[in-house]
Amino acid sequence: MSSPLYARYPFLEAARQAVGELGVDLETLIADGAPAVERGRKRVERALMAGRVDAEDPEAWRDEDELLSYPIARILVSLLDSGPAIEKYAAAEAKTAVERLEADFAAGDDGLKSTTSPRVDRETILEELGLTDTVVADRETVGQSNREPEWFRISVGTYLQLTSGARGDEWRLVNRAVDGGEVRIRREELFVLLRTAIRRRIAAGLPFEGLTEGEGIVEPLESDLGELRRLLSERTVVGRIDFVNRDLFPPCIENLLQKAEDDIELAAYESFTLMAFLTGIGMEADEIIAFCAESSLNAETIRYQTAYLRDDRGTQYPPPSCETLSAYGICHNEDNHWKDAAHPLEYYQAQLEAADEELSDWREEQTTA
Ligand code: SF4
Repeated sequence: MSSPLYARYPFLEAARQAVGELGVDLETLIADGAPAVERGRKRVERALMAGRVDAEDPEAWRDEDELLSYPIARILVSLLDSGPAIEKYAAAEAKTAVERLEADFAAGDDGLKSTTSPRVDRETILEELGLTDTVVADRETVGQSNREPEWFRISVGTYLQLTSGARGDEWRLVNRAVDGGEVRIRREELFVLLRTAIRRRIAAGLPFEGLTEGEGIVEPLESDLGELRRLLSERTVVGRIDFVNRDLFPPCIENLLQKAEDDIELAAYESFTLMAFLTGIGMEADEIIAFCAESSLNAETIRYQTAYLRDDRGTQYPPPSCETLSAYGICHNEDNHWKDAAHPLEYYQAQLEAADEELSDWREEQTTA
């Protein structure tokens, strides 16, 4: 396998060996501020902000930067000292990896044997994840063509391991076809299970032990860490908001909504900000889908992003602060209202509290319409 492939799948054991064979000393690389360090920080930042890790500007990075950014990202996320951040990071790596796998398998179906982007095949990924003996192509569909099979069989034990915690009745064993100790699954379902296996592989061993702030390898990473901590710490002091009144939304959010309603696709950080705000004011995914029905936002993206933003304890990721939104060019601080609130949720709560008229919740209007 070659370096471009490792750059796309840096969690593979062969990729780890390739890093060693490059003869690069990570400590020197970090001390020198090599491009891989910036890419490593962006990798974690994108994982936390957008739930994926692919570069927004792929042509800006060499394969080597991509490959080396992975161990650096793991160091950075370890230093964040946050369990949820590690979970989000591992989930984002897995999501991007599985999207690439789906593309690679589809290219194999199409018989694209010589593309410029080297592919990983099913045997390699199954072996890597220790699934070679427990996931096999379904006997009835093997040999019908050169295409990847549509059905697979997976041992019950592995199936139960990989579906533990999965949401949805369709994953319950009682709802599956089980034969000879194996569960029959569709190709799309195999990708879901591979995502879980990759996520667990990536989270294993994190956080790294023995990293000390301000010392050794960590010292040159202080400013990158500061950036990431700022993103994580942008939790607001507002209480729980559960009221939807668009007239009182802050200008930054209204601008994003209007942009989406003009059918302009939002950048990842814009869509994250909007979803984080709407989730932060108490809206469920279905409500947001209805609220944004006439916009460039699609239901699938909304569902994914809102699931990513929420956990069982409520909203985990609030929208970024006014300062960060200003740096991203989303905030224009109309009428200098930043002086009254440092956060879009704070601004909205203040607007709600200051309103002297009877306010209506958009959700009530929907049920009475
Ligand atoms: S100051 Fe804050 S609330 Fe106002 S537009 Fe900027 S980011 Fe939004």
